[in-house]
Amino acid sequence: MFAAVFLVPSGCIWQLCSRRKVFLAGVRGFLLGLVCLLAELGQPALGLSDPCQEWNRLQALVRDGGLSAGEARQKVVELHWELLETFGKREHAHRAAFPLEGGSWRDLGGKAGSGFVAKGYDFYQGNRHGGHPAHDIFFPDRDRDSLHDRTGRPVGVLAFLPGVVVGLNVGWEPNSQIRGGNYVWVFSPSMELYCYYAHLKDVFVQVGEWVEAGQRLGTVGRTGKNAHPSRSPTHLHFMCLSFDQGGMSPYDPYKELVQLGGR
Ligand SMILES: [Zn+2]
Repeated sequence: MFAAVFLVPSGCIWQLCSRRKVFLAGVRGFLLGLVCLLAELGQPALGLSDPCQEWNRLQALVRDGGLSAGEARQKVVELHWELLETFGKREHAHRAAFPLEGGSWRDLGGKAGSGFVAKGYDFYQGNRHGGHPAHDIFFPDRDRDSLHDRTGRPVGVLAFLPGVVVGLNVGWEPNSQIRGGNYVWVFSPSMELYCYYAHLKDVFVQVGEWVEAGQRLGTVGRTGKNAHPSRSPTHLHFMCLSFDQGGMSPYDPYKELVQLGGR
């Protein structure tokens, strides 16, 4: 009886201690969580940047001649490693897709890939670059309304490889000198390629968004200084640049396009 009476309060004390421990552990956990949260929220204030947004700013500066080639190249190298670090280990379906919805390799400009001309191209010359290290991919649009003549529907621009959207331009106006018009840049960590899709009508993606191969980035349009006039048949301008230690060298995806658009 005595023992029982005695045991009850001692049990209570143990329980109290235990509760206190749990309570303290809870407080510690809460504080730790709060510190992590504040660290996360404080990132922009601490100057830790978002490489996608930075790359988007960089491509616009290069395009408009707002940076020297040397400065731009240094920034390209810096951001490339940041992009690789952030997105390089991301799980994704290892595949590729033909970049024009319903298109085939027969819709490529030139003969046997001759539309691709690397000579004279320099990424760092921005909007003034020479060459044409790209494939133009056409579809029937005789009345130039950016709708497929047979289906009457817009034609989707599809991601060639999985990757992250690192640049875009929207809101192009016919008096703008920007040659690409409305466009999207996607960085593919697995291939270390920067792919560029130009002359779009609508753009469906945002900077920082991850896209899988075959995902719709937008629709083909007639935006861009030379793509807008009616003499130009409606097409997608598709270019891939290889990082190449900052060289941003033209990469010819002709073989892949033939395989993927094999109809
Ligand atoms: Zn082109």
